[in-house]
Parts: sequence; C-alpha cells; structure tokens
Amino acid sequence: MADRYLHFTGTAPGRFLTRRLGLPQPAPLPRWSPERPTFEGELLHLTAGTSPHTDALDDLLPRTGLRVARPGSASAAAPPAVVLDATGVGTVEDLAGVHAALHPVVRSIAAGGRVLVLGAHLSPDDPEQAAAQQALEGFTRSLAKELGQGRTAQLLRLAPGGLSGAESTLRFLLSPRSAYVSGQVVQLADAGGPLPYDIDWDRPLAGRTALVTGAARGIGAAVATTLARDGAHVVCLDVPQVAEDLERTAVRVGGTALPLDVTAPDAAERMVAAGPLDVLVHNAGITRDRRLAGMTAEAWSSVLDVNLGAVIRTTQSLVKSGALGEGARIVATSSIAGIAGNAGQTNYAASKAGVAGLVRALAPGLAAYGITVNAVAPGFIESRMTAAVPLMIREAGRRMNSLGQSGLPEDVAETTAWLAHPGSGAVTGQVVRVCGQSLLGA
Ligand code: NAD
Repeated sequence: MADRYLHFTGTAPGRFLTRRLGLPQPAPLPRWSPERPTFEGELLHLTAGTSPHTDALDDLLPRTGLRVARPGSASAAAPPAVVLDATGVGTVEDLAGVHAALHPVVRSIAAGGRVLVLGAHLSPDDPEQAAAQQALEGFTRSLAKELGQGRTAQLLRLAPGGLSGAESTLRFLLSPRSAYVSGQVVQLADAGGPLPYDIDWDRPLAGRTALVTGAARGIGAAVATTLARDGAHVVCLDVPQVAEDLERTAVRVGGTALPLDVTAPDAAERMVAAGPLDVLVHNAGITRDRRLAGMTAEAWSSVLDVNLGAVIRTTQSLVKSGALGEGARIVATSSIAGIAGNAGQTNYAASKAGVAGLVRALAPGLAAYGITVNAVAPGFIESRMTAAVPLMIREAGRRMNSLGQSGLPEDVAETTAWLAHPGSGAVTGQVVRVCGQSLLGA
C-alpha cells in the first residue's frame, strides 16, 4: 500500500539510480508533527506594485508563527514561505509587478516551501481588473508546476472586505499542514460578523463535536484523528459490518462509535440524535468501477446513493432539525475523478461532481446561519480504495502530479481540519483539491 518508489528514491542507491536513469525524483514533503508544527525560517513578504493591505499583512503574517522579512533582507536567504500580495493588480501593466517581485527570489525558496499569491475579489464593474486578477490564476497554477522539490503554490482571493477572516487560511496554506495541496485557488467571502477572537489555535475544536462518516479506516480514520487532535469529540460513523475497526478508531481518538449505514432509511434520524454537531464530515464513499457499457443499474445507483444521495438527505435533515446550528462546518468529499472524469468511473465521477455542485449550491443559503459548506477533492491518496487499483494505473496515479507522489490520508485530514476550523467562516462553497496538483483535470 505504501509508495515504495518514494521510499527507494530517498535512499542513497535509489537517488543514484534514479538520477542515472533520468527517473522522477519526488522530494519528501515536510508534514505537520507536534515537534514541527510550523516551518522554520523566514516568510518573505512581497508586494506587486502597491497594495491596500500592506499594513494589515504586517500584523497578520507573523501570526503564522514565522518571522517576516521584506525583500533584500539578507536573513531571508532560503525562505520556506513567500507571500506575494498582488491584490493591487488592476491592469495588464500591473502584472509586470508580479514578475518583478518573484523572478529574483523564485530559485531561492526552500525545498518543500510555499508560495502564496494573494489576489483581490474580481470586480464586476472593471473588466481589466477582473482580467488581470484572473491572470493570477493561470500564473499561480503554472508556477506550481515549475517549482519542484516539494514546493507548492496557491492563489488566495481575498473577500471584498479584505483580510478579515483570512487568518486560519493563511496559517494553513503557509504551514506543513498543506503539504499535498498545490495549484489551488481559494476564494474567501466576507465572514458575516466578527470572528470568534477567543480561538485557541492549538486546540481550535475544543468543546466541539464532530461527526465523521466512513471513519473506520483510511481517510475517515485520519480525519477523526486530526479533528480529535484539534480538540473535538468525534462521533465515528461507519457501516455495522466494520464495527470492530470502527470501535478501535473511536477508542483511539477518545470519541464515540456510531455503527450505521448512511443509506439506511433511519440514517438521518440517527445522525440527528447524535447531535448537536459543530462539524459534519461526509467522508464515506464507495466505488463500483466498470465502463458504462458493462455497468449494472445496481452498481450505478449504489455509488450514487452512498456518495451523493445520502450526503444530500442527511445534510438537509441535520440542518432542518437544528442539529447543525449557528457556526457549524460541513465538509463533503468529492474527488478529482469528479472534476477530470475517469474511464470506468461514470457512476463515481457523477457522484463526486454532484458533491461539488451541492456545496456550491448550499453555501449561499447556509451563510445566513453562519454555516459553511465546502468539499475536499482528494487525488491519489494511499488507502485501501487506491490499493485496489491495478498496479500500472496505481503507479501512474502516484506520479502524475506536480509533486510526483501520492498523498496520505493525513493530507486530506489536515485540509478538512482547516475547513472545520471555527476561524474559517470566510471559506464556503469551495472545492479544494488535495492532489499534489494532479495532471488530471488540472
Ligand atoms: P476506504 O474505502 O478506505 O474507506 C471508506 C470508508 O467508508 C470505509 O470504512 C467504508 O466502510 C465506509 N463506508 C462505505 N459505505 C458506507 C456507508 N453506506 N455508510 C457508512 N460508511 C460507509 O476509502 P478512502 O480511500 O479512505 O476514501 C474516503 C473518501 O475519500 C471516499 O469518499 C472516497 O471516495 C474519497 N476519495 C478517496 C481517494 C483516494 O485516493 N483514496 C481519492 C478521491 C476521493
């Protein structure tokens, strides 16, 4: 199940051989650990032209745990993080400022480091501003493909109201927690009221309850672990057939097991009874792969029902009943297959595209209650689901992304924890890929 090639290229003979043969050499990704929760070194703060947010960023960026340097500072020789504030870019000429700021430093960014481009809300009244800001998207995605050595790049578009509500997202994107997220564009919304200012950034979910479906193993078990690390009491749900594994996960995270099939007629009712909930993670999912010509109606409808139908039904019941109240966070699981399409997965891709449609459609209405709803779209993540993929396709899936390696369940879990964060009220209706910038659907 593990990525043996990645392990091999990390050894001395592996490095020698892959170099000689011209094979890909994926870099080890720095990930979160209790000993190393943030990057070490300095964050380089660049500005393209002028920006209305320079002072606010001077206050906010040090809150990521990194010391902040401005260009020319000798100490920022190999910065693990670079923030380019391009919010002031409003014309094609202004885009030259993007080149001018990053060109001199791009080679010096530390291996495994981050580039975060900050953009502005696209103006509906100024086509050139909208074009120039949209240009940042193509720029960032291309840069993410060029960086190599485990470095990533994302574009964060601020809300019309500016930086308020951006802190949890800056902390996530500028930390080892976002190791397998690259080439993403995240749009912030005005966060609807003041942020909870009493957030404990070490245990942001303390005193909160989260329900995670499909929590017995794989990504769901990692999500339960990460949300528990962040302080949540986790209700771990999975089908009764895997009750033993489920119980093990629940005990390990100090949570509660709820053996339940999400497609059962009483599923919504029993999930409501497990409330009140602050966080709902729809992670349970199945595949029944077959090309359409050979696919049975049963294979079609079972996948659509588990991956999408149950997500819609249970979300609606939990919201309507009030079990998911003010400030709640909903995270559903899409997939890059739902974005790019995948031969043999018409049913699965339909269900996962449906999840993306659902979160976008629900977000505006739920914002009135301070509830956010987002999706994670994993790429190739090591789990039992991907272990079942035929060897050659599995190997291609692992390598066909900008980071040249597969992701871990923890990578999806960290992204989910960011979206579940009480400070992430400005993030809603987003579909965030956790795929190392997979070439599929890029
Ligand atoms: P997995 O098969 O290892 O785990 C899925 C879990 O969901 C299992 O414990 C299973 O028992 C549970 N489950 C299935 N049907 C259920 C039902 N009806 N009710 C309750 N629980 C049910 O899969 P994984 O790789 O950990 O994937 C988790 C999620 O991530 C899924 O939604 C999957 O589609 C999605 N995803 C995974 C990958 C990947 O590369 N592994 C990629 C994209 C998306």
